[in-house]
Amino acid sequence: MKKSTILKTSAIRAVYSMICPQQSANAPDHRVLFGLITLFAALAGFGTPAPIFAQGVSPVIKINEEAAKADVTTQSLRANISVLMGSGGNITVLTGADGKLMVDGGLAVSRPKIQAALDGLGAAPVKYLINTHWHWDHTDGNEWLKAQGATIIAQENTLKRLSATTRVEDWDYTFNPWPVSARPTVTFKTDKTLRFDGETIIMKNYGRGHTDTDIWVYFKNADVMATGDIFWNGVYPFIDNSTGGGIDEMIRWANETLKRVTDKTIIVPGHGPVGTRAQFVEFRDMLIAVRERVARLKKQGKSIDETVAAKPTADFDPKWGNFVISPALFTRLVYAGV
Ligand SMILES: [Zn+2]
Repeated sequence: MKKSTILKTSAIRAVYSMICPQQSANAPDHRVLFGLITLFAALAGFGTPAPIFAQGVSPVIKINEEAAKADVTTQSLRANISVLMGSGGNITVLTGADGKLMVDGGLAVSRPKIQAALDGLGAAPVKYLINTHWHWDHTDGNEWLKAQGATIIAQENTLKRLSATTRVEDWDYTFNPWPVSARPTVTFKTDKTLRFDGETIIMKNYGRGHTDTDIWVYFKNADVMATGDIFWNGVYPFIDNSTGGGIDEMIRWANETLKRVTDKTIIVPGHGPVGTRAQFVEFRDMLIAVRERVARLKKQGKSIDETVAAKPTADFDPKWGNFVISPALFTRLVYAGV
């Protein structure tokens, strides 16, 4: 199953500068983050990294180690909403007189950097933390933020996943249950609306998507949509077939979510730079095209290896295939779902 993945340094630098446009990938201070991205890339098959697996170290552990040294940057979006980048998935923050509300909490090892970034937005404490889904690169900050008094809100399946032992084959990692002190205490099934700091925050689940725990979070007045991992801007997405995700469900989520945003909406993806509706449409169209090609090959009786060898994503690869998820891995993730 493991496939060799070669990622070009130039492509990685391009992705890095896309993520941190105000900074140079050559700056010494950012070599560590660059290394982290390179590591992610090496894992792209979550893949080959023979050296890593040969040492018996999971990518999850290595990524945490590297993230501990990486910078966390702040980007203002609109009104009192900002996004923090550099610790796992993107973190959206609403800052107001009543306190802060965060969408996802990043990696626990980034705590000092995230705390500094939060302090930079104002002294108000974090009152709410919303988890877009169960994955560790979005929920690993739950424990320390909850200890500071944040109420954690999530879709009900996120609580179930965080309360159980979960194996993710593609990461070669088994997660122990999150301690009770790190679990959400407010859960819902399909819809929840919260009024806070003068803003109306709408949360929505459409069933299975990238996992079986996803929600998006929409800030109505500011017109900012935090999608979680149902949208990866400009890069192939991970699809967690092992915990309820699937390509058809990802497409359905994209179609449903696109009905809720306009060309004026600022869209914060789970990974990649802040984007627009047009970029989300392009992502959706890429998913549909690859899904059709892979399904056709599978219907012809091609094995998963034969389907990867046929390179059904080839014309998309220059744009989408240079980050965490390699073309080969993305093809495999799609194949598993059609
Ligand atoms: Zn995820």
